[in-house]
Amino acid sequence: MENILFTHRGLSGPAVLKASLYWSHREKVRINFLPSIDVSEILSKNSKKIVLNSLKEYLPVRFVETWIGQIPRILQKKGAEVSKKEILELKELLHEFDFIPSGTEGYRKAEVTRGGVDTDQVSSKTMESKLSPGLFFIGEVLDVTGLLGGYNFQWAWSSGYVAASNV
Ligand SMILES: Cc1cc2nc3c(=O)[nH]c(=O)nc-3n(C[C@H](O)[C@H](O)[C@H](O)COP(=O)(O)OP(=O)(O)OC[C@H]3O[C@@H](n4cnc5c(N)ncnc54)[C@H](O)[C@@H]3O)c2cc1C
Repeated sequence: MENILFTHRGLSGPAVLKASLYWSHREKVRINFLPSIDVSEILSKNSKKIVLNSLKEYLPVRFVETWIGQIPRILQKKGAEVSKKEILELKELLHEFDFIPSGTEGYRKAEVTRGGVDTDQVSSKTMESKLSPGLFFIGEVLDVTGLLGGYNFQWAWSSGYVAASNV
């Protein structure tokens, strides 16, 4: 569970950056905007409140107005008035939103790159190439990709330390 940021160009934020590590072009992505609770539970707990007011306790109000505003008739209904079909529509928008991203921001905005020198061909004890003695690889040039959270710096520094200790 991570946050998503809506920018003027598309989606960003920790969840999206992490997902981009696993995404390949033309693949479908599914977003659950409300993973902590099922929308039907919110409606049944708040049967007398209008949907807009119930949902804004869980999601930013501007998001609710815009996103659920795609089916505007629902927002002003009370929880108990929302039909089964409308609950399914809400679930699709909030819990199972599927789309195919048109692309990423590319290298200009990338924070880490996938791929690189095969780690099987490098000693994990010294970082020295098994194919070419005297040649050392560290950091991002290797096929090691960390999630967000400092793991890439950690890898760069740790592998650098190991290599420097063994040259
Ligand atoms: C915007 C951004 C934000 C990031 N935020 C985070 C973060 O919050 N946490 C995290 O863990 N990671 C983060 N990263 C990733 C992290 O910075 C990299 O994984 C890490 O710096 C890789 O270290 P490295 O030493 O392998 O390569 P680099 O840091 O890229 O160092 C390579 C160096 O080699 C030099 N160089 C290149 N070619 C030559 C040449 N021919 N001759 C001499 N020198 C050369 C380059 O100038 C550079 O100084 C971020 C990356 C970016 C771009």
